[in-house]
Amino acid sequence: MDGDGRTSDVQAELDSVEAELELVELQIAELLEKQSELTAHKKTLLQQLDQPPSSSADKSCGPEPAMTQQELQQYDGTDFPWSKEVAQQLKDSFHLSTFRALQLRAINLSLSGRDVFLVMPTGRGKSLCYQLPAVCSQGFTLVISPLVSLMEDQIMYLTSINVSAVMLCASSSKEHTKTVMAGMTDPNAPFKLVYVTPEKIAKSKLFVSRLEKAYKAKLLSRIAVDEVHCCSQWGHDFRPDYKLLGILKRQFPKVPLLGLTATATSNVLQDCKEILCVPQPITIVASFNRTNLNYQVLIKESNVDASISEIASLIKNRYKDQSGIVYVFSQKDAESVSSELQKRDILAYPYHANMEPEHKSRIHRKWSGNKIKVVVATVAFGMGIDKSDVRFVIHHTLSKSIENYYQESGRAGRDDRPADCIVYFGFSDIFRISTMVVMENVGQKKLQQMVDYCQNVDRCRRSLMAVHFDEVWDNEGCNHMCDTCRCAKDFSTVDITQHARQLVQVLEVAASQDEKLTPLKLLERWMGKCPAKQRALIHTTTLCRAQAEAVIVRLLLQGYLREDFSFTPYTTIFYMKLGRRAPLLKNTNHTLSMKMVTQSAGVEAKEGKRSGHSAGDAPKSKKVKTHLP
Ligand code: ADP
Ligand code: MG
Ligand code: ZN
Repeated sequence: MDGDGRTSDVQAELDSVEAELELVELQIAELLEKQSELTAHKKTLLQQLDQPPSSSADKSCGPEPAMTQQELQQYDGTDFPWSKEVAQQLKDSFHLSTFRALQLRAINLSLSGRDVFLVMPTGRGKSLCYQLPAVCSQGFTLVISPLVSLMEDQIMYLTSINVSAVMLCASSSKEHTKTVMAGMTDPNAPFKLVYVTPEKIAKSKLFVSRLEKAYKAKLLSRIAVDEVHCCSQWGHDFRPDYKLLGILKRQFPKVPLLGLTATATSNVLQDCKEILCVPQPITIVASFNRTNLNYQVLIKESNVDASISEIASLIKNRYKDQSGIVYVFSQKDAESVSSELQKRDILAYPYHANMEPEHKSRIHRKWSGNKIKVVVATVAFGMGIDKSDVRFVIHHTLSKSIENYYQESGRAGRDDRPADCIVYFGFSDIFRISTMVVMENVGQKKLQQMVDYCQNVDRCRRSLMAVHFDEVWDNEGCNHMCDTCRCAKDFSTVDITQHARQLVQVLEVAASQDEKLTPLKLLERWMGKCPAKQRALIHTTTLCRAQAEAVIVRLLLQGYLREDFSFTPYTTIFYMKLGRRAPLLKNTNHTLSMKMVTQSAGVEAKEGKRSGHSAGDAPKSKKVKTHLP
């Protein structure tokens, strides 16, 4: 067969695979919807049977052990023999006033000798669940951690609060190792926590024999396996040495084990149980769902000044006298956005990696003490923020992934009171981020998921996040705390096949003239903002700018358009090209549709817009339902 023939065969097969893929994707979407409905229905039925359903904020998974919700709830109590000391140490040693959801349950279960698997999103305080029992117990707690840097952070923190902790890793000196080993069998317990890498257990007979001695002397009080998902090859960061940790439970069966992780599907957890030889752990799963956070996406004005004014108005009205964070894309943006907000009488200060450390901590301190209202920050502002009364996190530019967004927005409402998380979704921002993540392996894919989150008009924002946390989503978990759940029916499905064909034409004409188009150029040309000579060769659109942008983004997400990067020594430029699916449009039967907010609808978007043009007009007069219900 000649080369051309083969190419056209392959092309034909590709077309049919593409079409089939599209069908599968549709089916997946439908099945996910069906799953949500069934879960909700199941919940209702369980309620009718008068059985408390496992709520999404607190559920225990797996068939065993037989502990009912009620039995589990008893472990939230404060009438255990150790409860007084636990409360005291929480305040005196850890300087914390209250527990976060499920921390006390995990602590009580561990202190009563049960093996526990704790699944809790990053940043919610898993470490406390073994650190606090450690200081309330005789002897020491053994902590297995996968990274030396993580251990160093913890030791530094514990030392700063006067809890004695030590670590052993490959680079520990002989002297240090000797001291630690001796301390492990000292009844006066010179330290409360011993951090080791899994290699120590797997490879050091000396260390294990020392543990043996400590165990016999009843000084090994607890074993904590941090990032426990590393045991499983099904997980995302499998560590071979974690596979050998089963020896711990086999040698020290009476010592309670606590496994901690942020993400684990049930098959990963099952695998971990077997590898660690803990047949019946109590599994506590803290939902990723932050029920007090209200998620919202607003379309960003393409005019820079107007977009800042809109944010300023929100901050001055809706969040009067309240504290928050505005996340921006770059250091330059941090400087410019904060100065623009200052011009609008808002106490806003920048925070980014390029500032002097003292300067940064001064800003952080002032903000924590409510001397500054808003920090305008790059993602450098993250570690160690534990201000509890952050009432809003506004993303001036979308995050680079949903995981990042979850982390960043999650700094709002740590006090469990209602707080808002708003993304301003801007067309050109997508491409700024895209050029930034171009070198990252899965950067583009993750960004696309974030863009999809922003462009979504019909599915609950939480359900889109749930996918990233391996959580089966129950529609009732939102409780109208996201914009799509609040105005669910204000969109329609629009046929965009003709629009897509027009855009393909614009690109083809440009290519025939050896011209590359940036996304903005493509948009403008399609809208007819180009010389008459060019205009004559294409079909211009009648869509308004926001809709035209939405169509381009949709086509990009679905592979009808694609990005093409051009690297210059100083910058990366993003051009638009025809995507792998573009040839499908030549087929007259091929249709393509998307869901769009209808013009008369999008109540919230309009509120956002309106507030932008009406500084001083307090939103309360407009029935803005910020903190629903
Ligand atoms: P994880 O391991 O789950 O990612 P960490 O244990 O590192 O989270 O804790 C994250 C942050 O939460 C730390 O700054 C910690 O001090 C803080 N934290 C933990 N528990 C509480 C609490 N009960 N109240 C306030 N802050 C807490
Ligand atoms: Mg941790
Ligand atoms: Zn919702």
